[in-house]
Parts: sequence; C-alpha cells; structure tokens
Amino acid sequence: MAVLAVLQSVLVAALSAIAFGFMAVELRRLARLIASGTPGDEILTDVPAERLSKLVSFSLGHRKLKEDASAGILHAVFLYGFFVLGIGHLEVLLEGVTCFLVAFGGRAFTYDRVLPAGLTSAYHLSQDVFAAAVLVAAAIALARRFAGRPARLLPRSADGERILWFLLALYVTFFLLAGPSLLLRQRAAGAAALSLVQPVTSFAAVAFASLATPAVEALRGLGFWAHTLVFLAFAAYLPTTKHMHLVFAWPNLYFFRRQRYGLPPRTFFEKTEKFGIDQVQELPWKSLLDSFACTECGRCNSVCPAHATGKPLQPMKVLRDVKLNLRDRTDAALVSDSQIDRSRPGVVRGDGGYLQVDGQVHLDELWACTTCAACVQACPVLIDSVPGTLVALRQSQVMMESRFPQEATTAFKGLETKGNPWGLGPDRRMEWAEGLEVPLMSELAGREVEYLLWVGCAGATDPRARKTNQALVRILKAAGVDFATLGSEERCTGDPARRLGNEYVFAQLASENVATLTPYRFRKILVTCPHCLNSLGKEYREHGGNYSVVHHSQLLSELLAAGRVPLDLAKSSDELVTFHDPCYLARYSDTVEPPRDVLDRIGVKSVEMTQSGKSGFCCGAGGGRIFLEERIGKRVNVERTEQALATGASTVAVGCPFCMTMMTDGTKAKGVDEQVKVKDLAELVAERLRPGAS
Ligand code: SF4
Ligand code: SF4
Repeated sequence: MAVLAVLQSVLVAALSAIAFGFMAVELRRLARLIASGTPGDEILTDVPAERLSKLVSFSLGHRKLKEDASAGILHAVFLYGFFVLGIGHLEVLLEGVTCFLVAFGGRAFTYDRVLPAGLTSAYHLSQDVFAAAVLVAAAIALARRFAGRPARLLPRSADGERILWFLLALYVTFFLLAGPSLLLRQRAAGAAALSLVQPVTSFAAVAFASLATPAVEALRGLGFWAHTLVFLAFAAYLPTTKHMHLVFAWPNLYFFRRQRYGLPPRTFFEKTEKFGIDQVQELPWKSLLDSFACTECGRCNSVCPAHATGKPLQPMKVLRDVKLNLRDRTDAALVSDSQIDRSRPGVVRGDGGYLQVDGQVHLDELWACTTCAACVQACPVLIDSVPGTLVALRQSQVMMESRFPQEATTAFKGLETKGNPWGLGPDRRMEWAEGLEVPLMSELAGREVEYLLWVGCAGATDPRARKTNQALVRILKAAGVDFATLGSEERCTGDPARRLGNEYVFAQLASENVATLTPYRFRKILVTCPHCLNSLGKEYREHGGNYSVVHHSQLLSELLAAGRVPLDLAKSSDELVTFHDPCYLARYSDTVEPPRDVLDRIGVKSVEMTQSGKSGFCCGAGGGRIFLEERIGKRVNVERTEQALATGASTVAVGCPFCMTMMTDGTKAKGVDEQVKVKDLAELVAERLRPGAS
C-alpha cells in the first residue's frame, strides 16, 4: 500500500508537471506571437477605471451575452463553473501529490484538514451544484450544436464540440470520484449515504450504497484517476484550441480601442515606403490579440451584411485566418489572390466561405466589407479589428500593387482631380443651391457663423441628395439658423478613398480641407452625411482639424424641441415610416435617438425594423462599396429593403445620402418604388413647414 501511495504521488506530480508545463510553454509561444505585431500608434492604456469597468461588465457581467438569454446563461455557468470548480480540481491534484504521506502514517491533503466545518460544507455544496450545472450546460450546448441551433454555430466546429465532450467527461468522472468519497465519509461517521450539502453527489453515493467498503474504495480510486487524467488532458489540450479565449479575452477587454475605430494604423507617408499590410506580423499587436481572444461564437457572422447576402466574407473567419497565419503559416502573405472558380462544386462552403484559403484572406473577402462595424457591435469580447484589418489589406493592394476593382478607378480619379468621387468639378458645387440664396463663408468677411453647412459630394452631385440639402436649407432659414457653406472651396472629406484603401488620397483631401477651413470662423460643422460626420469629427484630428460636427438629425431634433421650426402638423398624414439607421450614424457616431425624436416631433407614425439602432443592417454602401459592383450573392440593399418592406411602412426614412441611393435602388429592384417612398429626415420635416415659413 505504501509503495502504491508513493507511486501515485510521483505519477500525479509528473503528469501535472507535463500538462501544466506544456500549457505554460504554449501560452508563452502564443504571447510571443502576439507581441510580434507592430506597436501601432494607439493609446490603449488610458482611462484605467473605464477599462476595468468594461472588463468586469463584459466578462463577469456578461453584458453582451445577456442579449441572447440562453447562450448567456450557458456561458455564465461555464465561466463561473471554471472559477469555482478550479478550486476543487486543485484539491484533487494536491491530494494526489500528497498521498505519499499515507506511507508515513499520515493522510493525503484535503481542504477539510484546514477549513472549519462550516466552510468545508460550503465548499462541498459549491462543487456539487456547479459540477451538476456545468454537466447539464455542456449537454445542452452539445444538443444545440447537433440540432443546428442557433444557425450562427454552423458549420459545427470539431474543436468546440471536443471541448464540450471534455466537460462532460470531466464532470461525470467528478461524480464518480465524489460519490464513493461521500459514501466512505458517511460510513466512517456511521451516517446514511445522503448528505444535504452534496445533494447531487448523494445520488451517486446511494447508487453505490450496496457495495462493500473495499469495492467502494476501489471505485473511488478509479474515479480519482479518471478525473485526474481527464483534467490534465484538458489542461494540456486547452492552449491549442479556441478556448484560449479563457486567457486572452481578459487582456483584450481591457485594451479595447477607444480611437481609430474600424481603421488600420496611421500611415506616415514621409517616413515609410511600404503602405498597408500584407504580412500578418505587420498588424498591430492588439489585432493579433483579438484573433486569440475570439470565442468563435459566430455572433459577428450572423450580423455581417456581406455574409448574410452570400459573399465569402465572414468576420469570424478573418480573425481565424489571422490566427492561423500567425501560428502556422508565417511565410504566407495574409492576402490570397488565388483564382477561385465559384461555380466549381465544392469550392464554396454551405456558409458561403471558400474552402481553400484558410489562414489567408481572399480578395473577394476583403472587397466585400462595407466597414459597417456590425461585427464590432455584436462581439461579446470587444473585438474591433476586422474592418480595420480589411482596410489595411486594401491599402496594400491599392497603394503598393495598384490592384483594385476596376470601378474604383473612376472614383479615385474624380477624387484626385476634382475632389469629388463622381467627378463633378468645384465650379459646379453650388448648383444644388440655385435659387436658395445660400450664404458662402468667403462672403462673410471674417464674421463667425453658428453652423458651417458641409454639403458633401453626394449632396452637391446626386439629384436625390441635393433635395435633402435643399430641404435642410429651407428648415434652417425658417428656424432662423445662422449658417453658410464653403461652396466651390469644399472637397470630398476623403472617406470613400480611405475605406477603399487609398489612404494617400484621403490624407491629401483631409489636409486640403483643413487648410480651407482654418481661416474661417464657425462654431460647428453641420452635415447631412454620416460619413462626413465621422471623418470631419473624428478622423481629421490627426490632420490638425479639431471640429465640433453635428448631423442634421441632431440639429433638427434640437430645433424641433425648442419650437424653432414653424410646422403645420395638420400636414401629418397616415404614412407609416420606418427609419433605416446609417451605420456611420448609429454605430460609429453613437446617434440613435435624434432621428426617432424628429419623427415623433413631426407627428408621424413610425415602426422599427427587426434590426435597428446600433444593431441595424447596412444598406451596402459603406466602405466605398457604393462605387463598386456587387458581383457575388444577393445585393445588400435589396436585403435591407426587404427588411424595411416587412414592416409595412409606406415611407423609408434615411439620414444619409448613400442610404438614400441604396434604399431607393432597393425599392426599384423590388418593384415597389411607386408605393414605398424613400425620404430623408430633412425632407419629411420640410414637407410639414408652415406655408411661407422658409
Ligand atoms: S464591418 Fe460589416 S461588412 Fe465588414 S466584416 Fe464587419 S459586419 Fe461584415
Ligand atoms: S469576433 Fe467576437 S462575435 Fe465574432 S466569433 Fe469572435 S468572439 Fe464571437
């Protein structure tokens, strides 16, 4: 017996050293891989209190996971089970390592030797309850996967399922150990097999109650080894799986990005000759950390408009590609330009992704992104790098390889030569305002205005977007707002160039616009385009432009609330309106309520689409995609239009000129453009102006 006890100690110690040693080596390797990324120019250590609060609310508080109640409960059981049951696993290992003491007349270490009776009971109860809960949760999670529900967990992941089988084995063997242990303890105390502090274990104890004590001891030994071996195998296996998020999600939550949302690292043209990214190590370390923090829950895929419409892009796969490329294929470029014949059977998976390019991002994937940030919004561990990574890859394609969809050529040329992606010259930038007597900044002789009205390229060029600006001007005049525009001095903010990967053109346009704005005096910039809102308000800072920028929905909401807009509410009709949230307004600029407030205040009945607000579905125009053909899958704007039509609304309200184009095209494609109108918020307000008010 004494020899066996010593042997058991040696074996448990050796196996633990191997399992945890392997885990430590693998973790160190992964940490080094993550650190091999570039430092980036981001500040990720400021506001520690806010970072800690996010860390706690998103991890322990399950802030995002709660949105899907069943998944949230399952995850909470696994996470809290991990902490609580970890204490028990440690006891089992300590008992194993110290059982050699038996050879010297002592006893192996167990917590009851050092804990007071009350705490020992609490400990046993916690282990009992959590082991049973994790067992049930793992069984439910496996059943959900086999049943194909929810769809975002498809295709089934062998890795994910293996972990669940491990959990099942771990807690079946837990009860195989705990049941006989309880029975032996109770027999020694002359008590019945049942114990109130181990209610579930009691069932196992009762099941073995007919066995003689030597048989129960043998069964306990079997349970001990089975449980220990499964646990150590699990510990060694974990670092090789997606469950490494158990380690990497914590730092990822803490180092979340507050700035440069959806963008790659800044390019300093004067200091480098290589633009964009084509090797994985050129990504910032934070983007590499993101890839290891990913839980592969599929939430991002389920909200991605490109994925939903049959493009090969899946944000979760992009992260996986980054991880695989970093871990296993460090020599391969991150971009794959392989010719893929999508019509060939077996080339495209059931979920739309390509089979052959694991570990690389295919060109079709990187050009499919609308930079809508729905994937960012959906992620429970604050992974925000996918649109930025894809734009970084575009930068390399555009600025180093001159390889981009042919349709982008016209937009780039227009931006470079005319400062307008549609090629409208500066001399025609005020055509939209004919007859409206719109004041120009250049005519104010240095006087400060309240609002500089930024017209935007679409607003100056596109017939429908021109109408939005015309309606807005009528409202501003009726409300007595002091404003003026730049007229022919205005150039595109550069947003489409930046999102299409042409950072050089963006930088040029940004510098030009900042130089134009500098001599003028204005309190705020007013825009009708959320892309201009984001560029001017957030992205011009790095080019020396610090502006307070408001979207017209915000100003309209304020003017209406202050009673400054003379309305004739008798004009409010029975039209049912649904508002389509622009991604760059709701998600990038955190503006959800003002458009709805405007609709309320002008007395229209409104109805929400299933995906709305920050969880809205893109119109398909962002990321410069408005200038590109959509050759794969269903058109994103048609999908969004169908969602709008499903509400039964007769008017789709928008707050973005790109959304206006896409939704109007969508109603035409569905053949309902006569019955369902697409109108900007400004148009809806202007329709209700009191006669003669403007
Ligand atoms: S930004 Fe939008 S389109 Fe791009 S990967 Fe994320 S969800 Fe998909
Ligand atoms: S990126 Fe976030 S949402 Fe997408 S699979 Fe990973 S953890 Fe889930």
